[in-house]
Amino acid sequence: SLFEDLNLSPELLKGIYVEMKFEKPSKIQAVTLPMILTSPYKDLIAQAHNGSGKTTCFVLGMLSRVDPKLMAPQALCICPTRELAMQNLEVLQKMGKYTGIIPELAVPNEKISVYKRGPVSAQVVIGTPGTIKKWMSLKKLGASYIKILVFDEADHMLAEDGFKDDSLRIMKDIERISSHCQVLLFSATFNETVKNFVSRVVKPDHNQVF
Ligand code: AMP
Repeated sequence: SLFEDLNLSPELLKGIYVEMKFEKPSKIQAVTLPMILTSPYKDLIAQAHNGSGKTTCFVLGMLSRVDPKLMAPQALCICPTRELAMQNLEVLQKMGKYTGIIPELAVPNEKISVYKRGPVSAQVVIGTPGTIKKWMSLKKLGASYIKILVFDEADHMLAEDGFKDDSLRIMKDIERISSHCQVLLFSATFNETVKNFVSRVVKPDHNQVF
């Protein structure tokens, strides 16, 4: 399979080939990208470890769904650590270089000025559950236009105290306000904790890749 077969914009293809220097989709990308990018946008749970190329799956999902002309958060990526959030942000910036899409990092102590400024206008927000929840409850991060929500390394995230409750809170806020939100969940393991969480955040007709 080829990246050209996925109906991606020329700007995204340029990001993939010129910036990332990828030639063709990895195995997980070849399997999940058609699911992620095809309407009706179904939820997806996928077993993936580091090195499989999972980041590209959800980064392309987010970048291809977002409208660069709308200055409001439309994609949200929830990560277990600040480091992972920063890595994902970097990939998103590189792959999305030609799209005009603006990302923002939501991690503890980052952008303290967010309290002074108006609401976040970046189209993609990547961060940790506590900070994202906080920004939402402070109305600094609006959920109205969010159409894609990503949980990266869900197993690690659920191992963190309080992150599950924060994530469920975020999910509830989005469900309440946004008409339809596609959920993508990636995890290296699917233990009982992860399975239980999955049953609460994805819709019954989701795709799964193991
Ligand atoms: P990830 O599992 O997403 O962290 O990706 C692991 C590594 O594989 C990263 O260094 C990526 O840049 C690289 N990678 C991901 N997808 C591809 C691809 N389609 N072709 C070549 N390298 C890739």
